[in-house]
Amino acid sequence: MRTQNALSRSQESAEAHEMRLSIDRERHAKSRASETFTQRETRLSSQRNRTDVARSCESVEGRQARLESDRERHAESRASETYTQRETRLNTDEQREERRAAARQRYHELLGDASTHLSQERDRIQEIRGTWSDEQRAAQVEQDRLRRNVNQLSTSDEESTVYDIEEQPWLNKEGSGFMYNVAINYAAYGNIGALEEVCAHCQARKWKGEPNGMCCASGDCKVCCIM
Ligand SMILES: [Zn+2]
Repeated sequence: MRTQNALSRSQESAEAHEMRLSIDRERHAKSRASETFTQRETRLSSQRNRTDVARSCESVEGRQARLESDRERHAESRASETYTQRETRLNTDEQREERRAAARQRYHELLGDASTHLSQERDRIQEIRGTWSDEQRAAQVEQDRLRRNVNQLSTSDEESTVYDIEEQPWLNKEGSGFMYNVAINYAAYGNIGALEEVCAHCQARKWKGEPNGMCCASGDCKVCCIM
């Protein structure tokens, strides 16, 4: 069938060639207008496959010839486009380029924000650590080491291992609000008891360890009078 077609096509006149193409176009347009969504998807997909196969075995010259004829075809179609068609196309190209430029800018801004934030964080932590005692520093070094281990675990293939790591005690509480460590079970070490103390002066209930005078300045302030 293909060979026959190739033979008869090589012998057809320019007029016959044009005629055949025009009939083909009409036939295709008709069948496409009536195709269902699935038919359309199937057709496009098999077309893509055919294109992929054809391109994967095309020679360097074949590729150049194809690109050249593509360029010519585009130039032709642009030469024959109407003012409105041209405006629409340029508009779309322009808008597309504008959208791309805006997206690029947003992306770079985000990158910039992230790196500025990181360096500010680094400075802040450096400042906090500058005020530490040797003991605190040693504890932090240990905590950093543990955190690195945890991070390595959590980036490994088995993410679940992160939940199986050994729990660390919450020893150094100062500043730990700024240094969350996933290995510490804070709840187990964060029990501050109940409101069991009662102020002798104003009977306010207090946490264990709350200093005297915090509620009523040791009786100087009479709550009943205010209320
Ligand atoms: Zn009191």
